[in-house]
Amino acid sequence: AVSLRGVTKTFGEFDAVKDLDLDVRPGEFLSMLGPSGSGKTTVLRMIAGFEDATSGAISLNGVDVTRVPPHRRQVNTVFQDYALFPHLTIEENVGYGLRVRGEGRAARRERVGSALEQVRLAHVAQRLPHQLSGGQRQRIALARALILRPQVLLLDEPLGALDKQLREQMQIELKQIQREVGITFIFVTHDQEEALTLSDRVAVFNGGRIEQIGTPREVYEYPQTEFVARFLGLSN
Ligand code: ATP
Repeated sequence: AVSLRGVTKTFGEFDAVKDLDLDVRPGEFLSMLGPSGSGKTTVLRMIAGFEDATSGAISLNGVDVTRVPPHRRQVNTVFQDYALFPHLTIEENVGYGLRVRGEGRAARRERVGSALEQVRLAHVAQRLPHQLSGGQRQRIALARALILRPQVLLLDEPLGALDKQLREQMQIELKQIQREVGITFIFVTHDQEEALTLSDRVAVFNGGRIEQIGTPREVYEYPQTEFVARFLGLSN
């Protein structure tokens, strides 16, 4: 569904992403792991269209979107800080994107209702964001992204702000939702355990390149480079 060919991103003199090839299959859950500064977020931002690739090509379902603006790509993003509008109710927050697209009130109501059911939060529809827990806000952010029916959902440390227990619970729910909806998830995390549990494949980044990509099992059991082994803490 998502394909990067020879993608490079240069900031000034510095290549944050170097000649990257990446293919993510439809419905796949791909996690990007790697040290801070290795280019994971930059890759996500280029797929979303927030950042232009300096060279190379990006396509979504076979369509070249390298120069297509973010709102015209079938892609949506969930960040760690959720970014819900504090003065709007949960229902209004989730329906916001539909309103911008000009959908009528009745259609909006119905779709918001089923999106809230999908994340099992129909009962909080009339509350304001500050009246929810961190985990609930995270699920609302997810519902708000899913309601626009993107083909690809990009998640940058979406569980990063949650405590351990909530995080583990949310991991299970996230995986369930991804299976139910069947869209492609591309996920950045610093939590290896999380990547292992959730992903169909894991890509390990180093210095703007992918060192290794494979199923969690392949990458953990058969690290192909010294770097991957060390990063995953399997050697010495
Ligand atoms: P982290 O795990 O810390 O989020 P990351 O792997 O996501 O790191 P990126 O955020 O993609 O890494 O950053 C890759 C490199 O590009 C870093 O060295 C960063 O400082 C640099 N960089 C990112 N955005 C910009 C920018 N707008 N201008 C200049 N340099 C940038």
